[in-house]
Amino acid sequence: MEHMKIFNTMTRQKEEFIPLKEGEYRIYVCGPTVYNFIHMGNARPVCVFDTLRRYLEYRGNRVLYVSNITDIDDKIIKKANEEGTTYDVIARRYEEEYFKDCRGLNVKPATAYPRATEHIDEIQAIIKDLIEKGYAYPVENGDVYFRTRKDKNYGKLSHQPIEDLESGARIAVGELKEDPLDFAVWKGSKPGEPAWDSPWGPGRPGWHIECSAMARRHLGNTIDLHCGGVDLVFPHHENEIAQSECANGCTFARYWMHNGFLNIDNRKMSKSLNNFFTVRDVAAEVGYEPIRFFLLSGHYRSPLNYTREVVESCKASLERLYTCRDNLDFAIAHAESSGTELTEKAAAAQRKFIEAMDDDLNTADAIAAVFELAREINTLSATSSRETLEGAAKTFDELTGVLGLLYNREKDEIPDKVKQLAEERAAARKEKNWARADAIRDELAGMGYVVEDTANGPKIVKK
Ligand code: AMP
Ligand code: ZN
Repeated sequence: MEHMKIFNTMTRQKEEFIPLKEGEYRIYVCGPTVYNFIHMGNARPVCVFDTLRRYLEYRGNRVLYVSNITDIDDKIIKKANEEGTTYDVIARRYEEEYFKDCRGLNVKPATAYPRATEHIDEIQAIIKDLIEKGYAYPVENGDVYFRTRKDKNYGKLSHQPIEDLESGARIAVGELKEDPLDFAVWKGSKPGEPAWDSPWGPGRPGWHIECSAMARRHLGNTIDLHCGGVDLVFPHHENEIAQSECANGCTFARYWMHNGFLNIDNRKMSKSLNNFFTVRDVAAEVGYEPIRFFLLSGHYRSPLNYTREVVESCKASLERLYTCRDNLDFAIAHAESSGTELTEKAAAAQRKFIEAMDDDLNTADAIAAVFELAREINTLSATSSRETLEGAAKTFDELTGVLGLLYNREKDEIPDKVKQLAEERAAARKEKNWARADAIRDELAGMGYVVEDTANGPKIVKK
């Protein structure tokens, strides 16, 4: 069995990406903290790792893809207080907006979108394991801390010796931890904050622990791949490893992938620097698809610089591909020639595409291979046989599909996007997530479709 290569942050090398169980990949991607619309930088891991998933599936694998929703945290609580409402109202609102952006960006629905607040039992279970093994300790005010120095492997992902970490660590006023390096796995409640009962008093989970608990619950003790933006390497992923490996006694994630930053004027786009553009705003002006194209146009580990002009140029590039594909349909319908040269050209472009993707998900070169195919199609379509043209169309659709592009062709009566929404609604209903199911139904209605629940499953009808 051949495997693609990926750059593993843990070993700092390109390695063959071999899953624990051949043909099945278990992947966990850190998702958003839902207190606002996502910005263009947040969309980078979303699009990059969705493309990785699509590629692994294209190569015949099953992928279990879990992406969490951080629905309790300081920023959510702050926003709720500002609006005079509760944390869950804020979290549900922006979770829904996030899903809307994901659909706009043609992101395949994850296998599961676990929410932190729905895994309090699992979170407490892992904290109990850590306390029992001496890796965590409760303190008087209801906080529970991880005993960082006891974990001899701490720092292995970010390649930082413990001495380097020591110099930067401080104990803040009011913190009762034993050591500046220790970090909270449970936060005792403060007045006016949402709280859950626990053996250590009312409180809420720390941020890092939710991912350890939800990865364990949904994917098992050892997962194949954990990913996120490069800013998560330290401390978030380092702390996840510490918690999971100390609690479970085995490797947490076998591979680690991190995307580089989306920059603006050579600085990281972020809420705190206030130099961000939301996906929603950019999509309103340019459309969603050029955003996805843009985010895949560079190698995922390199920095990518955002400007409106470059996203607009992506729109123009996409239009060239749409035109090529439409012309191809026309050529198929009117084919009278017998040429077969395009068959080999399409196969060559496909090989090039696979070679690029196999080499650490080089979407930039993969896109170049698609354009090469488009050029060959444009040159040869008038002289090719129908069968040859149909073969080229199949290759074209497969490759653009792996990139998650060209999803706005409305050749089909029901657009893919609508079908995907209907599927997501069915999944939400199965999970008894009525709020989400209803929100999707409303969105479909807005697009001019109704879903009828029939004995054979949901049927989509155009109004
Ligand atoms: P956050 O909601 O800040 O935890 O971010 C959600 C995801 O977006 C994480 O995987 C971050 O690493 C990623 N992210 C945040 N800002 C950027 C950026 N400017 N470029 C690339 N990825 C980012
Ligand atoms: Zn995480």
